[in-house]
Amino acid sequence: MQITANKVATITYILKDNDGTLIDQADKESPFAFILGNGSIIPGLETALEGKSAGDKINVTIEPADGYGDRHDDMIQIMSKDMFEGVEEVTPGMQFHAQTGEGMSVVTVTAVEDDQVTIDGNHPLAGVTLNFDVDVLEVRDPTEEELDHGHVHGPGGHNH
Ligand code: ZN
Repeated sequence: MQITANKVATITYILKDNDGTLIDQADKESPFAFILGNGSIIPGLETALEGKSAGDKINVTIEPADGYGDRHDDMIQIMSKDMFEGVEEVTPGMQFHAQTGEGMSVVTVTAVEDDQVTIDGNHPLAGVTLNFDVDVLEVRDPTEEELDHGHVHGPGGHNH
């Protein structure tokens, strides 16, 4: 069976940036399962996996435009520490949910200097070229419940 729209695929992967630094991975003990075509994975990976079958291995380089988008400097802001009332200590790397012009999004604290806090609303992988090494473990039809929920149940998916 091939991976086409609305099929469930279970994969393992290794994701590295262009410097060879490991960004993320899913191994056989904790594979990743998704339904193709419903936006649960980035467009570049959907395109690369379409038509593949169990046992196939792919190696694909995905540019930011087909990944998490480009970085936008205007999503970097400097705020006063007063805005973080209730947070005991604001340190680089902390993430907050914030209301932005494009709705709720996750912002990351990138610097703290005196009473100024620099936050970055870009996705952490925005602007990053992604190098995926993927093994396709299984391709199957979704259950009606999975289609209904829009995600996979069981190994690699939701357990609820
Ligand atoms: Zn569900």
